[in-house]
Amino acid sequence: MKLEPVIGLEIHVQLKTKSKMFCGCDTNLEYAKPNSAICPICMGQPGTLPVVNHTAINFAHRICLALNFKINKYTKFDRKNYFYPDLPKGYQISQYELPMGENGYLPMVIKGEEKKIAIERIHLEEDTGKLIHPKDLDYSLVDYNRAGTPLCEIVTKPEISSPAEAKKFMQELQLLMRYLEVSDAEMENGQMRCDGNISLRPIGEDKLYPKTEIKNLNSFKALEKALEYEIKRQTEIWERGAIPGRVVTKEIKLPLTYAIKGQKEIITDQQETMGWDENKNQTVLQRVKETLADYRYFPEPDIPPMEFSDADLKRIEKSQIPELPWQKRKRFRDQFGLVGDETEVLIQNESLANYTENVISELVSWLSSTSEIEGTTEEIWERDGGKISKMALSWVVNRLKVALDNQGIDLNNSKVGPENMAELITLVYGSRINSTTAQKILDIMVENGGDPSQIIEAGDLNQVSDKKDLSTIIDQVIAKNPEQVKEYQAGKLPLLKYFVGQTMKLSKGKADPQVIEELLIERLR
Ligand code: ZN
Ligand code: MN
Repeated sequence: MKLEPVIGLEIHVQLKTKSKMFCGCDTNLEYAKPNSAICPICMGQPGTLPVVNHTAINFAHRICLALNFKINKYTKFDRKNYFYPDLPKGYQISQYELPMGENGYLPMVIKGEEKKIAIERIHLEEDTGKLIHPKDLDYSLVDYNRAGTPLCEIVTKPEISSPAEAKKFMQELQLLMRYLEVSDAEMENGQMRCDGNISLRPIGEDKLYPKTEIKNLNSFKALEKALEYEIKRQTEIWERGAIPGRVVTKEIKLPLTYAIKGQKEIITDQQETMGWDENKNQTVLQRVKETLADYRYFPEPDIPPMEFSDADLKRIEKSQIPELPWQKRKRFRDQFGLVGDETEVLIQNESLANYTENVISELVSWLSSTSEIEGTTEEIWERDGGKISKMALSWVVNRLKVALDNQGIDLNNSKVGPENMAELITLVYGSRINSTTAQKILDIMVENGGDPSQIIEAGDLNQVSDKKDLSTIIDQVIAKNPEQVKEYQAGKLPLLKYFVGQTMKLSKGKADPQVIEELLIERLR
């Protein structure tokens, strides 16, 4: 029997609001002392009233628009009751049957095919505090600073078909949160947390079998590894002839009134909740989950339900959201012919993407104003747009970004503007300088700024491409190395590299290695 995994994800994203979900407490907790960013409201003291954070509502709507959700006209908050030491009120204010949005999707490209991962719902809720278990103490500590911080929970449908796909979905969602500027979504800081739901089923069936839920996966790696482990564990159970999470009781010992006449066995599906043990590299059973009824959801009596008027909804739908990662990816492919890993560097880094686009447009105007290159801006773009874009991409990602990183300079504080960068690339494109010289110029630009032609004049970096000048240098190299010339002519051809090196050295790196090689072969023959 061939089995396939069925995976759904529940993601909690911490929203970047200034204050908490229902009170004015600060959410910037990096330097806050434990239990300093709290107030009677987020501590749930009697007589206090929560007030909804408007920015959190706006952020949720932005996410709804980006992920194609149907935005609910009516929505409300509910109490989800459960006890946990870091939940000061003994309940969490969340949203149950009327979430902010329903039936969205995130478009992805899986093995070259477009796939829309369906998302069931998105709702707002508040975070809990934090428990700390110091190793040298026999009691635990609790810090309530985080209690009441706004969270947005995103629940996908069980439509993800592999651990790698789950990881990719999470990475794309993280990027989206950053594009929308609603969360930094840093997993290692707990700003984005993920629970993975997984079951297996025989290929060809569409029903769902009991799932296990793996809680609090705090890295992409943990998510992928935990799901892979569960597939292995559940496969072994299937292979034993049992179904994971399904408990079959043969003899029923129920009170008479509950027993159904003639029934010999009873099947119950358990919701197994697992944790991921990073050291042991395996999932471990934490508990068999309470059912929904155990949470005793009821409408939050202290917060009136919300209704968005038709005018509100129109305004929300028309509100501006930035170009989304997948839109940018598509546009870079269609407009510039840019795809692949280097392009992905731009998709992940908005300012680098904007910079590259500026370089490309500057580049086209530079090229059209260069005497050696024929044609108008449009003609050049028509003829060579793809090549120009790839050159710009490569110079920005592989040269400029690397040089800036080496110097610890942020692109936004860089002295190399798109116009000067474009001029430099133009010089390479028109073979005025070779790429070794260009690199030298770029290093100077990174350090001191300035435009490339001035740097060339000041530093005498013009390429020696005049064959007459080069011939003189080659004459010198040949004269200086009679032994090597004999060996080369006797058949030791790899020596050519040595002659090229010597010539480069004499030309102070200004010659084009390609041209040198051609001239040398000719002369040595
Ligand atoms: Zn508070
Ligand atoms: Mn939740």
